[in-house]
Amino acid sequence: SGAELAALVAGASVDVPDFPQPGVVFKDLMPLFADGAVFRQVIDGIVAHHGAGSFDVVAGVEARGFVVAAAIAYATGAGVVPIRKAGKLPRKVLSASYALEYGEATIEVHEDAFIAGQRVLVVDDVLATGGTAAAAMDLVERAGGTVSGFSVLLELGFLPGREKLSPRTVHALLTV
Ligand code: AMP
Repeated sequence: SGAELAALVAGASVDVPDFPQPGVVFKDLMPLFADGAVFRQVIDGIVAHHGAGSFDVVAGVEARGFVVAAAIAYATGAGVVPIRKAGKLPRKVLSASYALEYGEATIEVHEDAFIAGQRVLVVDDVLATGGTAAAAMDLVERAGGTVSGFSVLLELGFLPGREKLSPRTVHALLTV
């Protein structure tokens, strides 16, 4: 159930105060990835929520999004497309920049990453301000994909990430 999945995520994540900077509580999901039984239940829960036939490709945001994306893709027979930090992809890319608390970040995708109209599930580990997710979805659509949904394991509900992505819907296994 949703409550059981939320409890699994809560129990397998660790709060790290003041990382990567003072005042931020980093939600470390590495323990969740490292626990085979929990990881499988979490991935199965995400797949069950969206429905295995509702997307063709899973796009994951570097780096922890790759772990989630590859598992969902393998479980459903979908493909996986990496959305990477600037300068990492070897061929022609589309870029999207967005504001961070200090400065700016840029993420990229290969311009030919999607077949026109492919339905793309966009995933990451944590939704915070929503800047990364908004930029990722912008890239998917500029590259010709159709965003079928957005999924995270954990959402910081005190930040306006969900509102920023509206009217697209966000699925989070746990909101804190
Ligand atoms: P944002 O663009 O603010 O929604 O930040 C989302 C991205 O930064 C995701 O790729 C997360 O992995 C990471 N992130 C942001 N804040 C946190 C946090 N408090 N704990 C863990 N990861 C975070």
